[in-house]
Amino acid sequence: MISSRSKSSSSSSPCRDMIHVFWHDGMLEHDAGAGVFDTGTNPGFLDVLDKHPENADRVRNLVSILRKGPIAPFITWHSGRPATTSELRLFHTPEYIEELEQANQSGGKELCSGTFLNPGSWDAALLAAGTTISAMKHILDGHANLTYALVRPPGHHAQPSQADGYCFLNNAGLAIQSARDSGCQKVAVIDIDVHYGNGTAQGFYTSGDVLTISLHMNHGSWGQSHPQTGTVDELGEGDGFGFNLNIPLPNGTGDEGYVYAMNQLVVPALHKFKPSLLVLVLGQDSSAFDPNGRQCLTMEGYRNIGRIVRHFADKHANGRLLVVQEGGYHVTYSAYCLHATLEGVLDLEDALLDDPIAYYPEDSGYSMKVVDAVKRYWENTIPFMKEE
Ligand SMILES: [Zn+2]
Repeated sequence: MISSRSKSSSSSSPCRDMIHVFWHDGMLEHDAGAGVFDTGTNPGFLDVLDKHPENADRVRNLVSILRKGPIAPFITWHSGRPATTSELRLFHTPEYIEELEQANQSGGKELCSGTFLNPGSWDAALLAAGTTISAMKHILDGHANLTYALVRPPGHHAQPSQADGYCFLNNAGLAIQSARDSGCQKVAVIDIDVHYGNGTAQGFYTSGDVLTISLHMNHGSWGQSHPQTGTVDELGEGDGFGFNLNIPLPNGTGDEGYVYAMNQLVVPALHKFKPSLLVLVLGQDSSAFDPNGRQCLTMEGYRNIGRIVRHFADKHANGRLLVVQEGGYHVTYSAYCLHATLEGVLDLEDALLDDPIAYYPEDSGYSMKVVDAVKRYWENTIPFMKEE
């Protein structure tokens, strides 16, 4: 059901109330196969195997809801493009790039658990990286303030020297480094994918110029490809100490818990950091119906997060906001949650699209206590959080 069209907020700068979406059909060519969920294995006793959760269908729906949904009049489309090898070196080591190129030339490889580079995958990964860099450049060149890199395969687990969690190249990390190289001094990243954005954190772990904040399920490490824990004490090192902020949230945190974490933790940290540009790393796998997460956000929660981030960008980051697509594995609800997030980013007064399936009650009491505990920890531990 479509609710009545709201009026958008007043606009003073050009393109302020449009979102510029960067996309390329070639990203559909990555096929991670089928099996028992993301294992790629067939046990032999199931008649129907799942497509790998990171499949092209999920992104087909992200594209189509923006083309045909009620948000369509607010969207401007741009074509993506592949990254060059020299661009990949902005974030990744030459040895790792070589490993990926060889895996591609040899016909494919499972780089780590659940992460399959198959024929077509490498070209798609290059498109995801280049398309995200283009979306960033569009902002830096002054063409727009709000851009969205609609990309796959996802990127935020990819570390400088290894693949992880369905990710090969760190799309957001590459775009952030390209922004820094273009003279953008301080960038803040807010990652609301249900999983810890360990790759992005690792890439900027010793930098005090990039603030990485990740809100995630408290899932911990998951083996050699993901040694980071995502706990509050992973704070960065050297010049980067205090500039990696982890917010591990309990299962079932829900809309109220996330908004509380945004207002109590994320926004105050952004105020102290004073970024000149924001990056929202967006995964719909924090939704209530995602097979890969347990965090129970609904469209309303995503909408509110989008709005909070937009308000901060407008007041304190020159209105500049890049949104980068990550996970989100429910083929229908991910698209709805994307629609809601971008409604929030547009700061629309009323919802354009109703939630067709959110009906579980939520209990935010415990998650709010966790957020309060994280806040006390930050205030006692992190130098830049103490400054006036
Ligand atoms: Zn995820």
